[in-house]
Amino acid sequence: MAQEYDLMIIGSGPGGYVAGIRAGQLGLKVAVVEKDPYFGGTCLHRGCIPTKALLHSASVLDEIRQAAELGIDVGDPGFDIGRAHERKQAVVDKNARGIQGLFKKYKVDGIEGHGRIVGRHEVEVQDDDASTVYKAKNILIATGSVPREIPIAPTDGERILNSDHVLKIGRVPKTLVVLGGGAVGTEFSSMFTSFGSQVTLVEMLDRLLPLEDEEISKELQRAFRKRKITCWTGTELAAAESTEHGVRLSFEGKDEPLEAEALLVAVGRAPFTDGLGLENVGLVTDRGFLDTDEWMRTGVDNVYAIGDVVKATPWLAHKASAEGILAVEHMAGSADARPLDYGKVPSVVYTDPEVGSVGLTEAQAKEQGYDVAVGKFPFLASGKAAIEGKTAGFVKVVRDKKYDEILGVHILGPHATDLISEASVAMSAEVTVEELFRAVHAHPTLAEAVAEAAHASHGAAIHF
Ligand SMILES: Cc1cc2nc3c(=O)[nH]c(=O)nc-3n(C[C@H](O)[C@H](O)[C@H](O)COP(=O)(O)OP(=O)(O)OC[C@H]3O[C@@H](n4cnc5c(N)ncnc54)[C@H](O)[C@@H]3O)c2cc1C
Repeated sequence: MAQEYDLMIIGSGPGGYVAGIRAGQLGLKVAVVEKDPYFGGTCLHRGCIPTKALLHSASVLDEIRQAAELGIDVGDPGFDIGRAHERKQAVVDKNARGIQGLFKKYKVDGIEGHGRIVGRHEVEVQDDDASTVYKAKNILIATGSVPREIPIAPTDGERILNSDHVLKIGRVPKTLVVLGGGAVGTEFSSMFTSFGSQVTLVEMLDRLLPLEDEEISKELQRAFRKRKITCWTGTELAAAESTEHGVRLSFEGKDEPLEAEALLVAVGRAPFTDGLGLENVGLVTDRGFLDTDEWMRTGVDNVYAIGDVVKATPWLAHKASAEGILAVEHMAGSADARPLDYGKVPSVVYTDPEVGSVGLTEAQAKEQGYDVAVGKFPFLASGKAAIEGKTAGFVKVVRDKKYDEILGVHILGPHATDLISEASVAMSAEVTVEELFRAVHAHPTLAEAVAEAAHASHGAAIHF
């Protein structure tokens, strides 16, 4: 007789494994099913962690190139992508072992195999030739997403790549075209430029990071241009073909084809619900996405969904984790369960310079009818940024004049991905912009720039 669980989670990404740990903490009998040979999902094995580990190699490489300015002579650094991969893998493996350890500690059963819902309270797990049906009071779908393919440039893993392929690439292509100017496309463009590739970044819309505040997009593009990254915005791929040495690409409205050693297709992700048995509980998807209520319940009230499979929410690991915690607390009847405010979920992009943002852009705030004031503070005027030699970018605070509410904070610059947390906490705690800048910020820190921008939105930054 197979085990009976309070909760079976299908998928062990940052949504599923975090939900599993929270369920264990709340005393639920819980199992996490994973079809891959390891727990951790896209984020740990093909996303956040491996990319940031390689981006760290890129950033150290750039720092070494500038070391002479600091009085350190090290000569021209070499770069061995094989060893960078080894270090990246060590980081990934250490984190994966951490998940196993946490599962053990919180009594979460990790089950290997492909999970399929076969009834409202039954999940079948297929592993090699064996299949077992488990009983579950609740089911949580956390099956995530996969790279989106486009018919005109099908990936082959050699010359036309997706983000999974490029994370294993054994060479630094001399020339690389990146299709897609979102977070994934801009991060890989930044990374391979540091590694020595000549990168052309192509985006169909009229700016990079189209979901960010317009000034962030503009300034990032300027910074990329300075780094010799060619950015073609408003440009659509018309055809792609493999050649003997790489790819030949043509674009709408451009006569000349572009030849490159490799093409990275980074045009977004597709939710993954293949073979999940949703039809067995009467669930239908919208192009693979599932609808949920504010507690992450699908149309079937003991079946929850979180993470990248959830419709119209950002593709972010921390969002998936927060939804996982919410879903589990709700099904456990915890008084702590509180619906997520998606407007206060920060977004992060690990380009050089980095991007961190939360809340409304200036344009969105105006569209929504707020009486908007904006404050900006450039890192050029920050003592700490000057010390670090990273003065590109700015902090921008968007506020509502009526109640002095923080509507949005947008940062481009050094450690923007860490700095944005101050704004997220402030927005979640509903402090006013004045309270944000009156809180004394330590000196010299990059965080002072956040306070200065908040001050500037009241008309008066001190150092600018
Ligand atoms: C290159 C890249 C970089 C990224 N960088 C960041 C970043 O810096 N910060 C950030 O917040 N986000 C980042 N993301 C996005 C982030 O990885 C995703 O938002 C996050 O992983 C989604 O988590 P999830 O739990 O919904 O699903 P996933 O992480 O996709 O995990 C789903 C898991 O479910 C398993 N699964 C699917 N179907 C079944 C089944 N039927 N049975 C058993 N198992 C199944 C899959 O094998 C997978 O392991 C990045 C993504 C990519 C591609």
